Amino acid sequence: MSDNHQCRQCGTCCRKGGPALHKEDAPLLVEGVLQLQDLCTFRAGELVRDNSNDHVVPLPEEIVKIAAPFGSRPDDWTCRFLTSDNRCFIHEKRPAECKALFCDDPKALLAMHGEDRLDRKSILELLHAPQWLLDSVEAHESRCNYAALIELASHLEEQEAARRALVEVVEYDRAFRELVMEKGKVQKEMLDFLFGRPLMHTVIMFGIDARHNADGSITLVQTTKATLKRQA
Ligand code: SF4
Repeated sequence: MSDNHQCRQCGTCCRKGGPALHKEDAPLLVEGVLQLQDLCTFRAGELVRDNSNDHVVPLPEEIVKIAAPFGSRPDDWTCRFLTSDNRCFIHEKRPAECKALFCDDPKALLAMHGEDRLDRKSILELLHAPQWLLDSVEAHESRCNYAALIELASHLEEQEAARRALVEVVEYDRAFRELVMEKGKVQKEMLDFLFGRPLMHTVIMFGIDARHNADGSITLVQTTKATLKRQA
């Protein structure tokens, strides 16, 4: 790499979000450099902004990324391995996307998009997780998948039944996570990997604010309407 292709270690890339994991990152998981509580899943259909046209589009397939520090604000995407002096805490063992990324010339990183990614199932199988955990991921996905949520959200303004159904899914997501923690003794820090980010937080993507009521129930408040563009 020539001098003008040297990373300046400004930390800007690492603040835009941790890397998505690929099959070549599997040894990092097996060796314990990356642990499940360091990861966050963005599920298929989850809405992300396409910067090329400023539309909100559903993710075509799930991706597993290194998460932001636990407890950080929902709009803070900084990789949790970035230190306060802009160093990578796992530099020698950083994931493949981090090795490929050079911000002035992102061709190598762009070439990796959609290629050989690790998903939740492959990671759990790699780590010989118990079958009930794989079954839990599948059960949660079948009830809380984003394809169904997008459909419900598109009818909220005119159909009270759609609003009730959406509240039920958000409540199910919350209860499911609590059940897995209680019965399966799963750490809270692992939930964003197993089930993606809580729907209480992500329904804001549909222009909906989910609010807790004093009695424990949830109210959905329409704020803005998300600009959805379905992918072909
Ligand atoms: S793993 Fe290291 S290089 Fe990669 S985004 Fe995180 S801090 Fe940056």
